[in-house]
Amino acid sequence: MKKIYTLLYIVLLSNVLYAQNDFNSWFVDKTLRMDYSVICDSGNEETMFNSFNESDYWGGEKFVVDSCDHYGDYYMELSDALSKKILYTYSYSNLTKEWQSTEMATQERRQFRESVIMPMPKKKSVIKIYKQDSCDVYTLILTKVFNPFDAKINYVNAKPYTTILKSNETEGNINFVILPEKYSENESEKFEKDAAMVAKWLCETEPYNEYKNKFNIYAVLPEKPAQLTRSLTPSQMDFKFNTLNIERYIASFNIPQIFNNAQSVPFRHIIVLINTYEYGGSGFYNTYTCLCIDNEDCRSLFLHEFGHAFAGLGDEYEGDVTYKVKKSNCEPRYPNLTNLTNFSQKWENLVTEGTPIPTPINRTDIEIGAYEGGGYTTKGIYRPSKNCRMRSKDASYYCKICYKIIEETLQKQTATKK
Ligand SMILES: [Zn+2]
Repeated sequence: MKKIYTLLYIVLLSNVLYAQNDFNSWFVDKTLRMDYSVICDSGNEETMFNSFNESDYWGGEKFVVDSCDHYGDYYMELSDALSKKILYTYSYSNLTKEWQSTEMATQERRQFRESVIMPMPKKKSVIKIYKQDSCDVYTLILTKVFNPFDAKINYVNAKPYTTILKSNETEGNINFVILPEKYSENESEKFEKDAAMVAKWLCETEPYNEYKNKFNIYAVLPEKPAQLTRSLTPSQMDFKFNTLNIERYIASFNIPQIFNNAQSVPFRHIIVLINTYEYGGSGFYNTYTCLCIDNEDCRSLFLHEFGHAFAGLGDEYEGDVTYKVKKSNCEPRYPNLTNLTNFSQKWENLVTEGTPIPTPINRTDIEIGAYEGGGYTTKGIYRPSKNCRMRSKDASYYCKICYKIIEETLQKQTATKK
């Protein structure tokens, strides 16, 4: 028996070492951020490289990630220039594609400043950005060669931070950073309290709580006024209400500044706290979650927006938004919404046999089905359950499908190898 355990130990250890070596042979433990701009209107767009920026420590997966889901509007891909091997890739969303679907975009052009992050490659590499156009069609919108030996790289200076939660585990951690917006230097104590409160919500909510021993949570402290940018607004990262003319929709058009602040610590997920009593927030897959912190509904708002940013979940509610969700013959990209054109790609295998699809709203005996209404429309889009945190702020739970998708994301990001 002892022999079996010894053998098992060697196999497990060699797997860990293999994963580490795989990462260490391609990367150094630093973060590389690439900034780029998109100038666009509803029909045309031009994408330009802006800069490379590095910081100490890499806060994401410590293994080669050669495939990703496509829950976001875009994905980035880092590959080795010589062998073409894909080394790191992830799907993400931001405001650009939403804005392009608004009425405003038919009348004006505007510039969006975006960023992607990756572990620092040791060798000459190629970074590509793809945009999801329709169905599974992806358009290459930017290609940039990165050569660590001759690229011009800006160094990001770390800002003061505090550690809210530190994992005892050395492998498979998920790193979160909480950033302050509209806090003055004198409100540092309030910010730390607010950040600890949000960390607590995360650590006590299912299914995140199952993985809290793998979490590192950092908070970057508010800056002195003299260190703020010369912007006339008191905002450090340009978060504004009324984004895309939706009052409660708070978002920023300055992603590089958000990532720049986050780069003070190792991070994979960014949470921005807006110091106000008003109500609002947003969540963009693998980009950031933001929320007003002093509102009585901010806990449910956080868990809703974080569902978008962490797991790529879609909104399960109906209602008016200024951006349009295109009617399409293919499935929506969100894993918790379907138009039933290819339900087997979604959660059909988790529906109990005999459940009517679409599922009538008056059936109280069914937990998972396909209920009509979601993705901002009452017709043609279906959600898994009657209610869910992704549908209503009054729901105190994620439906079974959203729960499962969050759990899968947690499993992937706490893995020590792919
Ligand atoms: Zn749900």
